[in-house]
Amino acid sequence: MDELDLLFDLHRRNARQGPGSRDATLRAIELAGLKADRPLEIADLGCGTGASARVLADVLGARVTAVDFGEPFLDELERLAAAEGLADRIETVSASIDDLPFDDGRFDVIWSEGAIYNIGFEKGVRQWRRLLKPGGVLVASEITWLTASRPDGIDEYWNEAYPEIDLASAKLGILERAGYSPIGYFTLSPSCWEAGYYQAIEAGFDEFLERHDHSDAARAIVQGEREEIAQYRRYGGFYSYGVYIARRVECEKAPDR
Ligand code: SAH
Repeated sequence: MDELDLLFDLHRRNARQGPGSRDATLRAIELAGLKADRPLEIADLGCGTGASARVLADVLGARVTAVDFGEPFLDELERLAAAEGLADRIETVSASIDDLPFDDGRFDVIWSEGAIYNIGFEKGVRQWRRLLKPGGVLVASEITWLTASRPDGIDEYWNEAYPEIDLASAKLGILERAGYSPIGYFTLSPSCWEAGYYQAIEAGFDEFLERHDHSDAARAIVQGEREEIAQYRRYGGFYSYGVYIARRVECEKAPDR
């Protein structure tokens, strides 16, 4: 098994594959002004096993196109959606979020939790804009500094892991220059990281190592996850996911109000 397959195996059993919560998804739905009064077309990019895709399909009655390059995650999403009676509202698509096979203007909403960093926030929001109808809404969570200055140790870690990490003010500027008007912002709470994500990963380490006969590759993955978790427990007061909600705007027309 290569590294990616091992990562899919470690994460597919968990409720989500990145920090978040049902409450945070509901809060973003509200800030985005989304209502169940018409069937919205939503793309959930980097959907994992569908923690948000299934909430969007359920609460909004939306038609959700759930995209990920992890086939084991999509299989699990389909199983869960069927068990929850949502199968007819969610279509899974195996594709890279870097190269999406959809026509321009197809979606009312582009949703992406804990995934845009894989291609970079600026590149992602620029590339994905064409997929939105004019006036459509982008909801994307992105690693964000919570303070203007930090201890050196945490700067070094993130400059290695994801140099695009920045303040919300910088991310909002990127959105504005990419043709969006920001309409909402909040940050994920510590429980979205701990109860929502890290605790489930930690609880699965022993069985994961057993399944893979304590191979070097499996141990390296556990070691990497442990380091990330330790960073968070030490420095989590300085960063979180920011949830950015922004409307697509046209340069020649004032945004709808
Ligand atoms: N949104 C889910 C998963 C977040 S983890 C949740 O919040 O639980 C990030 C996801 O992005 C993973 O499922 C991973 O397989 C997917 N991913 C990473 N890079 C990708 C790419 N280039 N194309 C498609 N999916 C990608």
